[in-house]
Amino acid sequence: MKEKIIILGEYQQGNPSSITLECITAAKQLQREAEISLLLMGDEVKKDVSDLEQYDVDQMIIVENPFLSRFSSEMYSKALLSIWNQLQPTILLCGHTDIGKAISPYLSEKVDIPLYSNVEDFESYERKLYFTRSVYSGKLMERVEVNEPTFLVTIKPKKWEAAPKKVGRKNIIRTMEVTIEKPISSLIGLEQKKLDSVGLVDAKIIVGAGRGIQNEEGFALVTKLAELLGGTVGVSRGAVELGLCDATLQLGQTGKTVAPDLYIACGISGAIQHLVGVTSAKTIIAINKDPKAPIFEVADYGVIGDVFDIIPALIKELDNTTI
Ligand SMILES: Cc1cc2nc3c(=O)[nH]c(=O)nc-3n(C[C@H](O)[C@H](O)[C@H](O)COP(=O)(O)OP(=O)(O)OC[C@H]3O[C@@H](n4cnc5c(N)ncnc54)[C@H](O)[C@@H]3O)c2cc1C
Repeated sequence: MKEKIIILGEYQQGNPSSITLECITAAKQLQREAEISLLLMGDEVKKDVSDLEQYDVDQMIIVENPFLSRFSSEMYSKALLSIWNQLQPTILLCGHTDIGKAISPYLSEKVDIPLYSNVEDFESYERKLYFTRSVYSGKLMERVEVNEPTFLVTIKPKKWEAAPKKVGRKNIIRTMEVTIEKPISSLIGLEQKKLDSVGLVDAKIIVGAGRGIQNEEGFALVTKLAELLGGTVGVSRGAVELGLCDATLQLGQTGKTVAPDLYIACGISGAIQHLVGVTSAKTIIAINKDPKAPIFEVADYGVIGDVFDIIPALIKELDNTTI
């Protein structure tokens, strides 16, 4: 019987997000003969996502339910379990994102199948499948032999190319029902924060703030620089610990993985746990007053100096005003 791979899709502003397109490429590499389905869940998916027919998969599975109007790990996990039980796929593939990390362990435990998380590469050799992923805070790469035919896998963002749309393609669009009980908690309200992480993963330019930016004034400088460059701000755990920003902006092992064209690390030492999230950047510029900081080992360009001197000079150059 044909193997079935389900990709748990994520979407934003009318389009599947880049990790979902990366999952399509990964699924094709994993099992070329399999039937690949892209699962999208939400309240009004068909209204929210355009071009449903053009993604390079065998079918789209649409699950609409009012309880899925916004992501909740409780509701999405329960819906995914219901889909798994109805379709009995061989493999479920999703991104190692906030959503993938939140719901894949629940499903793994409920259906009693292994979960391989944060995988960076697949390899088939003599009919055996191997996964590669980083362990021990990125200090070692682990190669795992997959012994079970049925499993869950989360893939590290930006390790596979995003699958292009297929113009003129006509996918089968299948609608499925899930019965989900009332949630145990309900949303009371949402408050927009000054900076949020939407778009961080796909940003082309990221200015990184570390403990060396020290205070609100330093954070404002980094934010201004990012604005002038048309980019966004990401941070190290050091900056989160200073209480200057939310952990959703954190880059690294326990934060987001990014691959911008340009990453400017300001006052960031370059701990391995931070570097695993940023070293796919095409160009890295580091600004640090310590010439021995490990960030300089991975940077393409290094500026040895105080961020409170260098960033205002860059801003002045870009803005032609002193701040
Ligand atoms: C299990 C685990 C998971 C982790 N996950 C993450 C993660 O996802 N992301 C992450 O970032 N960290 C993570 N960490 C923490 C990580 O080990 C480091 O502690 C953290 O990255 C350090 O942040 P930092 O570089 O901002 O601070 P520091 O290491 O304190 O470095 C600050 C740097 O700023 C420089 N500096 C100071 N003042 C100035 C100035 N005025 N001008 C210029 N330079 C200046 C200093 O020379 C120094 O190099 C994790 C740790 C563990 C154990």
